[in-house]
Amino acid sequence: MRLGLVIDLDVCVGCHACAIACKQWNASGTTGPLSDYQPYGAEPSGVWFNRIRHFEVGEYPHNKTINFPMSCMHCEDAACVTVCPTGASYKRAEDGIVLVDQDKCMGCNYCSWACPYGARELDRASGTMKKCTLCVDRIYDETIPIEERQPACVLTCPAHARMFGDFDDPDSAVSRAVREREGYQLLPELGYNPTNHYLPPRKAPPIPTENLGQPGFKERLKTFANKLVKR
Ligand code: SF4
Ligand code: SF4
Repeated sequence: MRLGLVIDLDVCVGCHACAIACKQWNASGTTGPLSDYQPYGAEPSGVWFNRIRHFEVGEYPHNKTINFPMSCMHCEDAACVTVCPTGASYKRAEDGIVLVDQDKCMGCNYCSWACPYGARELDRASGTMKKCTLCVDRIYDETIPIEERQPACVLTCPAHARMFGDFDDPDSAVSRAVREREGYQLLPELGYNPTNHYLPPRKAPPIPTENLGQPGFKERLKTFANKLVKR
């Protein structure tokens, strides 16, 4: 089994609901709180597993805003695991989830330097590394209804931009979506083989620009009528 996420960049509206739901679940779940620094101070900051980046692409009038949610990609060949000197970072054989053993982590930051996706954050309060766990404490929890055994970000996304599933199953919704929409990995050339995939924005129909600035039919009719009145 290889569990991960598919994120549809065509429908993500950049609302940050996934990041907030992630923060809420992981501040109250069993994997340890995500710290907030000076939550009521002038410059509150804290640890987040999921962050949304916003990019403006293309030239006007063909430009477009792309909202890009990013968290741990649960890479197949995760260098964050290889470089960890204490064995705190590990990849589970049974489902491919990459985790950090909080008891073994010494907060040396090697894994965050190795991760090209900026997925790891040092929690200054605990002195350990934190990252997305795919809500491992939720997806296997048999006390909650089966349809809710999904990562908090997936459950909360109002645009249904996020999907969770098994990439080893060719018939799963995530595998089908990647096949049908030509989903891609982020920075595949680095060789980490991330499990998470993105679905590209659909092509927008071209906006005709050749007649811009020229009078339309209504304008031409008005000019013609004015000429008639003046005679
Ligand atoms: S909740 Fe959904 S739509 Fe909102 S930012 Fe996250 S992925 Fe995008
Ligand atoms: S995204 Fe970064 S932290 Fe997550 S498995 Fe890949 S290298 Fe490790």
